[in-house]
Amino acid sequence: MNPGAESKPLVRLSRSSTGEAEITAVAEAVRRAALGMGVEVESFEQELAAYIGGQRQVICVNTGTSALQLAVQACGLGPGDEVLVPTLTFVASFQAISATGATPVACDVCEDDACLDPADAARRITPRTKAIMPVHYASGPGRLDEIYALAQRHNLRVIEDAAHAFGGTWQGRRVGAVGDVVCFSFDGIKNITSGEGGAVVTADARVVARVQDARLLGVEKDTEKRYAGQRSWEFDVTTQGWRYHLSNVFAALGRAQLRRLAGEFAPRRVQLARRYVERLAGVPGVRHLNLDYGSVVPHIFPIFISGGKRDVVREALRAENIESGIHYKPNHLLTLFGGGKVRLPVAEKLYAEMLTLPLHSELTNSEQDRVLAVLARRHVAG
Ligand SMILES: *Cc1c(COP(=O)(O)O)cnc(C)c1O
Repeated sequence: MNPGAESKPLVRLSRSSTGEAEITAVAEAVRRAALGMGVEVESFEQELAAYIGGQRQVICVNTGTSALQLAVQACGLGPGDEVLVPTLTFVASFQAISATGATPVACDVCEDDACLDPADAARRITPRTKAIMPVHYASGPGRLDEIYALAQRHNLRVIEDAAHAFGGTWQGRRVGAVGDVVCFSFDGIKNITSGEGGAVVTADARVVARVQDARLLGVEKDTEKRYAGQRSWEFDVTTQGWRYHLSNVFAALGRAQLRRLAGEFAPRRVQLARRYVERLAGVPGVRHLNLDYGSVVPHIFPIFISGGKRDVVREALRAENIESGIHYKPNHLLTLFGGGKVRLPVAEKLYAEMLTLPLHSELTNSEQDRVLAVLARRHVAG
C-alpha cells in the first residue's frame, strides 16, 4: 500500500450530480405538500415521452428493478415461463424476472460488446421461453437488431434493460422510441436520477394499463384518478399489484435532471469516454468496448486487461486513492441463479479481465489524468 494514498483526494467511480436546480425543484414539491403520486409524476412522464419520442407511453415507478419486474409481469409471464437474459448484468435484471415467478435463463455475451450473444440465446430457447431481456451494457445496444429478429421468429416478447442507456440513440432514434418494452433506471448514479426511480416505455396499450395498475397495488384505473387529484374509494382488483409508484418529490428531482441532460450530463460523459479512448490507445494489454459515442451516452467505462493483470491495476489505482469497479459478477455464478452449474465462457473470461474506470459528469480532466497516469505505467497494465 502506498503510504501517501490517503492524503490524495479521492477519485470517485461514479456519483450523482445535483445542484441548486434540483434543490429548488424538490423544495417546491415539498412546499406544495402533495408528496405521493400526482401531477409531478404525470409531468415527468409526459416530459420523458416527449424527450424519447416515437409516440410512446412512459410509466414511472420507484426503481429500475420494479420497472423490469412490472414489464415482465405485464407481458403475462409468471411461474413456468423462461426469460433469456445475458449473465453479464446487474443482479437487478435477474431478480426482476424471478420476482414474477418466471425463470431467468442466463446466456453468454459477445466478446466485442459484452452484450447478449444472440446465437447463444437461440440455443437456450425451449417451449417455455416467452421473452428475451437484452441489456444495453455500458450503454451500447449490442446486437439488438438480431435479437429482435430472433424474438420475431420464436414469438418472444422483448424487454430491454436500458438502465445504462438513457439519452442515447439506436438506429437514429432515441433509445426507447422503438422496440417492444424498454425499461430505464433513474437511480442515484445513472445518466439522470430521480433519487431512486425507473420507467417502463412502450407503445403497447395493454402493457401500459397493466403496469399502471400493478404499480398501485392492482387498483384498476387508479392512475387516472390520482392525476385528476382524486382517490379511488370504490374499485376492483383482479391481479397481483405492488406499491411501486413514484412520488412527486422524486419526480420533481427527475424533471430537473432531465433538463440538464442534453446540455451538461450527456456531452460531458461522451467527452470523458472519448478522452479515455484516445489516451488508452497506446497502452498495451488494455482493451475497451468499441462504442459509437455519436449515439451512446456512456453510463460506465469498463476496460478489459489481459495477462492476468486486472488485480494489479486495481491495486495500483487504489494506492492512488482512485475507485474502480467490476461490472459485473456474472449472475449464473450466484447461488440463487445456478451457482456456476452452467459455463458461460465468454462472460467468465470478461469477468476476469474487467475493470470499470471512473466516469460521471463531475469527473474533472485532472482526475481522469490521474487514472490514465496509473494505466500508462509500464509495469502496471502491459
Ligand atoms: C441500475 C440497473 C438496474 C436497476 O435499476 P435500479 O433503479 O437500481 O433498481 C437494472 N439493470 C441494470 C443493468 C442496471 O444498471
